[in-house]
Amino acid sequence: MPARLIDGNALADRLRAELAPGIAAVQAARGAPPRLAALLVGDNAGARVYARSQAKSCAEAGIAYDLVEMPGDSSADAVAARIDALAADASVHGILLQMPLPEGMNARDMAERIPPAKDVEGITAANLGKLLFYEGADLVPCTAAAAFELIRFAGCEIKGAECVVVGHSPIVGKPLVCLITNALGTCTCCHIGTRDLKAHTTRAEILVVAAGKAGLVTGEHIRPGATVIDVGINRVPVLDEKGEPVLNEKGKKKMQTVGDVDFASAAEVAGAITPVPGGVGPVTVAMLLRNTVRAAQAQARG
Ligand code: NAD
Repeated sequence: MPARLIDGNALADRLRAELAPGIAAVQAARGAPPRLAALLVGDNAGARVYARSQAKSCAEAGIAYDLVEMPGDSSADAVAARIDALAADASVHGILLQMPLPEGMNARDMAERIPPAKDVEGITAANLGKLLFYEGADLVPCTAAAAFELIRFAGCEIKGAECVVVGHSPIVGKPLVCLITNALGTCTCCHIGTRDLKAHTTRAEILVVAAGKAGLVTGEHIRPGATVIDVGINRVPVLDEKGEPVLNEKGKKKMQTVGDVDFASAAEVAGAITPVPGGVGPVTVAMLLRNTVRAAQAQARG
């Protein structure tokens, strides 16, 4: 494997360590640490796993974390009222909505109730809009910010580089295109409508893949020596050497987490690559903490 591994855990540790002075400053100014409230509506198993990991990361960093739970049959009005109450609570600096919300509830409408100053996921129209400008975008969507930090951590010069982002979602692909463009990278955004993905990806000195499709990008899609950031998180069955699913002790298919990039073939061609897990994931959590501290500092300043 010639590619260098880009260690997301190492970068996340460094980024979290950099938060200590900001957390101390908020504590000194307010007599309390930064506080993040996460609203969980219903009982989604995946959302609960995320919430547990957020709580642990916040506790380790010295950030207060409240999981605000509401029943899955709550009305949209009740959820909106709870968001409004958190928005009005001066002791809460950051608000995040655990996804998915119950079926039929409009996630965008709910997200837009979060005041931009407390929008630590950077998903309100106001915070996304700031990304189009060069300054003032403090609360950037966590995963896009994580991919950007990993590119810099890998030692890449973004200015002038040929960059390709696969995926154009509002919280990952598009904001990342803005971040790269603001840093003067030459950025192409590929998506489901792209006719010839390989023609674009093989030009990329920096390639970020955020499509949610396991194995979408293989070594054949990669320019030799490129830096590859794999954002995807996919649960797929573990296969044996014959290509048959491996069963666990309960007789069910053994599952594993993989990215959108076929790691084995990509690592033969790339210059540097993030693993899954251990790449974008831990840095995304660090970005959530960073946004919470930034939000709390801005609110402490008044
Ligand atoms: P999304 O479903 O909103 O968007 C997927 C994007 O991929 C779309 O722009 C779509 O056009 C594009 N796409 C799909 N199939 C394609 C194809 N065959 N060719 C080219 N483009 C294609 O997903 P998202 O929320 O942006 O997330 C993307 C991936 O990143 C998912 O796997 C998600 O689980 C993962 N993710 C990881 C983290 C993390 O912390 N590591 C955080 C958020 C999302």
